[in-house]
Amino acid sequence: MRTSTRVIGLIGGMSWESSALYYRLLNEAVARELGGLHSARCVLASVDFAEVERLQVTGDWDAAGALLAGVARDLQAAGAELLVLCTNTMHKVADTVQAAVDIPLLHLGDCTATAVRAAGMDTVGLLGTAFTMEQAFYRDRLARHGLTVLVPDDDDRAAVHRIIYDELCLGVVEASSRRRYQDVIERFAAAGAQGVIFGCTEIELLIGAADSVLPVFPTSQLHAEAAVAAALA
Ligand code: GLU
Repeated sequence: MRTSTRVIGLIGGMSWESSALYYRLLNEAVARELGGLHSARCVLASVDFAEVERLQVTGDWDAAGALLAGVARDLQAAGAELLVLCTNTMHKVADTVQAAVDIPLLHLGDCTATAVRAAGMDTVGLLGTAFTMEQAFYRDRLARHGLTVLVPDDDDRAAVHRIIYDELCLGVVEASSRRRYQDVIERFAAAGAQGVIFGCTEIELLIGAADSVLPVFPTSQLHAEAAVAAALA
């Protein structure tokens, strides 16, 4: 049995609200596994999210990929033995990040899809940023695991996206926004979804399993738990 973990490298700051959650979840998972005063061995590189968000809006994914690839190299140099990119959206450039280093990047889409399949489900609703809900990079990754992925309609997607950037990434948690997400989840259920993926790492700061008519797959939690399992393996 291991008594300490491999060093986890966190590419964070997107937003820092969810990176703080990752840090807590990693340490809690290690304490659960190893007991006592054990905590996660990790290094965190936290970017300026305003810079990344500007590249998202202008569609300059090459520059965003280069930025995060540099961060990944820094983390490897700092001793990281595996990498966690603490955002669903920026998995759009996951291949660029992985290609920059020799250590494995634990893909958030794979961790999430594995959890959905382990729960015996094959049809899920996806909540996330417009990039994650509308573009192929994330849905295709889930589909590779045999999942059918439902996304909200135009109005609901705009509301889900706005609440992430204008509220959750700024630490604002509103009951009316939780209600809006609950409405979207109810529409997923009516459309045949068996569960809902919180495919943005801030969503679980707003809403939890007790608020949802469908079983939930919170990606920060699933990613942190998978990272600890890999770090202990
Ligand atoms: N943390 C969010 C995500 O998981 C959104 C912030 C970002 O655009 O990176 O997608």
